[in-house]
Formats: sequence, structure tokens, C-alpha cells
Amino acid sequence: FMIQYDYLIVGSGLFGSVCARELTDAGFKCLVIEKRNHIGGNVYTESIEGINVHKYGAHIFHTDDKNIWNYVNKYAEFNRYTNSPLGLHKNKLYNLPFNMNTFYQLWGVSKPSEAREIIEKQIKEFGFKNPKNLEEQAISLVGKDIYEIFIKGYTEKQWGRSALDLPAFIIKRLPLRFTYDNNYFSDKYQGIPIGGYTPMIENMLKGIEVKTNVDFLSDKKQWIKQTKNIVYTGALDAFYNYQFGVLEYRSLDFNNESINIENYQGNAVVNYLDKNVPYTRIIEHKHFEFGNQKSTYITKEYPKEWQMGDERYYPINDDKNSVLSKLYKDLALKEKSVFFGGRLAEYRYYDMHQVIASALSLVKKLSNDD
Ligand code: UDP
Repeated sequence: FMIQYDYLIVGSGLFGSVCARELTDAGFKCLVIEKRNHIGGNVYTESIEGINVHKYGAHIFHTDDKNIWNYVNKYAEFNRYTNSPLGLHKNKLYNLPFNMNTFYQLWGVSKPSEAREIIEKQIKEFGFKNPKNLEEQAISLVGKDIYEIFIKGYTEKQWGRSALDLPAFIIKRLPLRFTYDNNYFSDKYQGIPIGGYTPMIENMLKGIEVKTNVDFLSDKKQWIKQTKNIVYTGALDAFYNYQFGVLEYRSLDFNNESINIENYQGNAVVNYLDKNVPYTRIIEHKHFEFGNQKSTYITKEYPKEWQMGDERYYPINDDKNSVLSKLYKDLALKEKSVFFGGRLAEYRYYDMHQVIASALSLVKKLSNDD
């Protein structure tokens, strides 16, 4: 073997693809290798009966940063999708995030001052000065009614633990909005790439050598000989052969169904708030792009404990895993020619716009070092 590449990029998700694009444009010779049989990581979408299906969970792009928005718009045209999920509790639908529509549905109040009064009264009566767990924290922020209907059941399903055993810091803030505005995000820019995320990633990787179905870790030594540097976006603990132990995640099972009706639930996202329903939400993919196909395609999300071999979705933010990830991060910092980035390699729950910002800043650093 001889050195053929300036950068070997391991993983073709958003982090790897942005790095590949930027490093290539800066004059470096790059190769992208990808374990799966397709590019795009977890933003991957696949057209099924003309509907772009978010195969690894719903991805809604949003950012407050004009540069990041301009950046993604170079590679895709974005539509005007605004995320306005609904929450179903005991056969009644509520608007999310918590706003005047929700308060009207909950208590029949139509004026912001009336809603504020109810919430403040509940916080006074049931809140805690030093919340010890997620339950006490949430009640102290939004009061008892909102906690019990919208947070308790969903969160306990999502994390597989009682709210009394979850740390308070998971919920630092729960925005309450006293206007009739169902927009889930408060960022200035929001949308879905028309045609799905896969063409956006294809555009980013245009002209760059990409190999799918290639598992870096099973042939690590050989790959290292062929490249000056590596950008690694896979699981951090796997890179170091799990030498300190295995980092934990929450995972998801997706139950997909193609249904021969035009419109199943009338909205892209419906959250199932009750604990006795085993899934947390149903995604109806066509509504991300205002589709008018004759049939529809839905996905139920069942949260589960991650086990080796499952897809990794949510890093677990507890003490044990923070300590463990720190051990691996310290090793990673000592590397001279391997750079770690993205959700898996940083063991961090990232939104897409944060992943892009982080990749751009790594490339900037690498270009200045050179
Ligand atoms: N959450 C909740 N009720 C809801 C939606 C979310 O209590 O109806 C909480 C829950 O603890 C969840 C967190 O908010 O883990 C973040 O949820 P979101 O849907 O915003 O994030 P995603 O799962 O899409 O990353």
C-alpha cells in the first residue's frame, strides 16, 4: 500500500459529507467510505411509491444561522414545511408546542393572561425549589397539568425509565408560548429539501470518490496506510475497540406501513402521549413535502434500549456514560491525524444545523493547520 489520499472520510452522513465537500474544494484528495449500502447516514431518505421516506427517523431542518441556511441551500432547494406536531392523549388531540391553542384545548381559556394565571398557580402549588429529578423539574417549569398530559408518558416511553429516575438536567427549559403559534421550532429558517435528503447529500459528494459497503473498522490497519489523515464519524467506543466499555444509547424500532388511502392522519407528526401505547409517534412522510400521491406511507416509532448491532440514535446523558465518553474523548484528543466528528464520534445529540457548523469549523481548523 502507498499513501493515496490526504483524507479518508469514514461515514457519509452529514458530518462526513460536509467535510468531504469542503476538504475537496480546498484542494485535498479525499475518499469517503461508508459501511451501509447507501450514503447519507441517518438523514437518508428513500423514495417509496413516490413518497420520500425518512428511513432513520424524521429530519426537519431548522437553523437561526443565515450562513448555515445558505450553505444547505447550495445543495438542495428547501420547501416551506413548518413542523407543527399534534399530541394525542386519551383520544383528544392537542397542538404542540405548548401554546395558546394548547391552553384553549386544555382549559378552555382564550386569553394569554388567563393561561398564565393557571400555570403560575400550578407551579406555586406543586413546584419544587430544588428539583431532584425530571418530574420535579418539569412540574416546576410548566405546572402539573402540562407535565402529566404531555411530558410524563412520552418521556418515560422515550427513555424507558420513570421520570423520577431521570436527571432533572434533561429538561433545562420547556418553552411556553402565549400566542396562537403551532410552529415547533423558533428558528428563523426551516424546511425540508424538495426530493428528500439523499439528493442533497449526492450533490454535496459530487465528483468525490465514495465507496459504500465498506467497513473501516474491520480493516483499520490497511486503511491507515493509505491516507495521511482520517475524519472518523463512526461510534467513538468502536474505534477504540470498546476498551473502556460500551457507550449506551436509546434505539428505535420503525414499523413501516404502506396504506392505500390518500391521507392517514393529516399531519406529518402525531405524538402518542399515553404510556399504554407502545410507540411514541406516527410519522406520515408525504406531508413533509405536501405530497398528493394516491397512497400513503406511515412509520410508528417504538423506543427501545440499544444493544450491540442495533442502530444508535440517542446518546444517554447520565453520569456513567458521561464518564465513559470522557475517557474515549481524551484518547481521541491525543490523535495527530485522526479527527472525530458528528453524533456518533462525539457521543452528542446533535441537530443537523449543529452538525454542519461543527464540520465547517473542523475543516477551517484543518485548512489553517496545513
Ligand atoms: N417530549 C415530551 N412530549 C412530547 C414531545 C417531546 O415530553 O410530546 C420530551 C421528551 O422527553 C423527548 C424530548 O422532549 O425526549 C425531545 O423531543 P423531540 O421530539 O423534540 O426530539 P426528537 O426525539 O425528535 O429528537
